[in-house]
Amino acid sequence: MEEDYFHSYNNLEVHQLMLEDSARNQAYRKAILDNKNDIKGKVVLDVGCGTGILSVYFAQAGASKVYAVEASEIYKVAKDIIKENNFEDIIEVIHSKVEDLNLHNKVDIIVSEWMGFYLLHEGMLNSVLIARDKFLKPGGLIFPENATLYSAPCRVPSYFESWNNVDGISMNSFCEKLKTEVSKKPLTSKVNEDYILTEPEIVLWFDMREVTIEELQSITVDHLAIANKEGKYQGICLWFSCTFPSYSTEPVTLSTGPGDADTHWKQTTIVLPMEIDVEVGTPIAYQLHLNATEANCRRYSLQVTMKDPNEVEHPEYCSCYLTKC
Ligand code: SAH
Repeated sequence: MEEDYFHSYNNLEVHQLMLEDSARNQAYRKAILDNKNDIKGKVVLDVGCGTGILSVYFAQAGASKVYAVEASEIYKVAKDIIKENNFEDIIEVIHSKVEDLNLHNKVDIIVSEWMGFYLLHEGMLNSVLIARDKFLKPGGLIFPENATLYSAPCRVPSYFESWNNVDGISMNSFCEKLKTEVSKKPLTSKVNEDYILTEPEIVLWFDMREVTIEELQSITVDHLAIANKEGKYQGICLWFSCTFPSYSTEPVTLSTGPGDADTHWKQTTIVLPMEIDVEVGTPIAYQLHLNATEANCRRYSLQVTMKDPNEVEHPEYCSCYLTKC
């Protein structure tokens, strides 16, 4: 399983997708170069350097040493990129899992791009936290420094609407089956900002300097959102943002929400097996449960429990149901 994970990063197209994500690159670049006066002379550990892009930003910002650690075969490309940018004297590429790494000295800064779909998918965060506990000096910085996961009820029209006329044919039976199928796993796709029915709620916020692996194993949050537009409640949309540390300037935030610049993370949607009409002011109560699966610690199971927001009245949709991903 672990080999499959690193094997997937041997694929150049996976790195192409990340390198073409300019919103992602620019957030790291700005966060690093804006702080170059304070980064000058610092020792940095890049956890999972991939093609080496983040290590090069730190070298450009004046770091005295960057340990660029990468477990997959892409480390060979990182070596070439570092040579191409003339930073061989600053950046040392180490082909290793960070868990197996030995360094003689502790580092001032850790940088990593560990975020997966809905933030936690991929489970790479655990490796960064292990590296933090082993190698970061007390008071050291982590890029990014904190992360927030958001959720909001939304429309998912592609799975609910227009199936009664597919080029002249009614396809509602197909749509029913499709919905049942897609509600079993989260979708990764761009969600139109207009489809979000409420203000976002915070599912999870954590500070990278303090959070523990245990705290992220099982997360259950109850939300009561209020519809701010009329529409059909057909799914729950998830996205995240990360904020970088800053010594003096305004901190940089990388946001991956429906209204933000496109990123390769897009948004994640849990499709409900049914739809509910809401009006402005309709309360929408739901519980989100994210659980690191034991069989594969790189995956979370996502579960939405619909709640009856008004326990007295028991309206049409009072029977809670589950959708498990
Ligand atoms: N930093 C690069 C790549 C990010 S993708 C960039 O921003 O473009 C994450 C990378 O981390 C992958 O190349 C993956 O192989 C590597 N990685 C994941 N877990 C790791 C671990 N435990 N030790 C070393 N490398 C790891």
